Amino acid sequence: MRLPAGARLALLLARRSLSSSPRIPRAHTGIWSEAPSRSSPFSPPSSARRSFHGTRPVAARDYYDVLGVSKSASQAEIKKAYYGLAKKLHPDTNKGDADAERKFQEVQRAYETLKDEQKRSLYDQVGPDQYEKTASGGGGTGFEGGFGNPFEDIFGGGGGGGGMNDFFRNIFGDRDFGGRDVKVALELSFVEAVQGCSKTVTFQTSVTCEICGGAGVPPGTTPETCLSCRGSGFIFMQTGPFRMQSTCTKCGGSGKTVKEFCKACRGNKVVPGRKSVRLDILPGSDNEDTIKVVRSGGEDPDGRPGDLYVTLEVREDPVFRREKGDIHVDAVLNVTQAILGGTVQVPTLSGDVVLKIKPGTQPGQKVVLRGKGIKTRNSPYHGDQYVHFNVNIPENLTSRQRELIEEFAKEEQGEDEKDAKAAAGASGG
Ligand SMILES: [Zn+2]
Ligand SMILES: [Zn+2]
Repeated sequence: MRLPAGARLALLLARRSLSSSPRIPRAHTGIWSEAPSRSSPFSPPSSARRSFHGTRPVAARDYYDVLGVSKSASQAEIKKAYYGLAKKLHPDTNKGDADAERKFQEVQRAYETLKDEQKRSLYDQVGPDQYEKTASGGGGTGFEGGFGNPFEDIFGGGGGGGGMNDFFRNIFGDRDFGGRDVKVALELSFVEAVQGCSKTVTFQTSVTCEICGGAGVPPGTTPETCLSCRGSGFIFMQTGPFRMQSTCTKCGGSGKTVKEFCKACRGNKVVPGRKSVRLDILPGSDNEDTIKVVRSGGEDPDGRPGDLYVTLEVREDPVFRREKGDIHVDAVLNVTQAILGGTVQVPTLSGDVVLKIKPGTQPGQKVVLRGKGIKTRNSPYHGDQYVHFNVNIPENLTSRQRELIEEFAKEEQGEDEKDAKAAAGASGG
């Protein structure tokens, strides 16, 4: 089952709001394995990060306590509480009472903040200490000076409701954004590569968690409105004269939080698994060609799946040799075929053909069969086929064959002597 549309939108928003954070570039050092990333999405949450739940330093008084209202008080309740206290503590009715004056100022300060929803959300987010530091100008360096690393400070400084931190720790720390790219090798026969084929590759990668359907939370979980930003996804902070808007770090800008994660994927939305992808190998594919199959790599329920890179390993063929678009084959002739000429059967990619042999064909001679090579990818052009002739010299002769060859040899010798005499006569005369 899928998360309700609102929650999915919220999660998408959370991702979007994180897009400005630096991405760790992917490295592809492993050749046939998954590309390594900075951390496995399947590693348990870092225990170091859990230490963010620190103890809060001696605090400024909580504004809700100051006004005597609950954290979920409505504006009307806040206003009512304020008027009551202001009337009671007003300097006009408490002349000379320093304690009342201090309390009056405290009430004023609390009301100034809580009556403004944006200030209130910031206050809820960071707590009284950080809030007062920031509201009073902090170190004079604005947001950065006031908060430093917002995650450490806000989580460590006790913004309250720390349980939600796990949600974003998960997103920030233990999960890479986007699906993973996967590289696999695919072995093909020579003919499969040359003529094209359909193949299914199966590989190990991250697949959508079946238990939660990629939601990351148990089925039926309803996201709740983020208490820190009250669902707006933004918090505001006043630094001196500037008011700065910032993404809510509790909900990552989604405005929603959840209490519990899917136990099967621990909120990662993906689990390790096997995936099969069918692909068409184009005719004319060659060894070491890499085919990129977009979005067929590791799953990412929130965004773009990784890409799949399939590198072809084409087995050598006992008959055909390849040189780009051209094909080479050997044809072995008998001595008599080479001498007298004749015909020989030669394999081509489209079946055997019968070639005529010219009398006196020499070993190492070749003929070209135009257009009998490999079809070039994405083009109607075909390469050529080269037939290389070799001549088989018989090792064992029957006595009759030997007689005939010796006869032939005598004849040849006679021819040679005639030639030699003719040559001598020519040079002497
Ligand atoms: Zn799951
Ligand atoms: Zn929020």
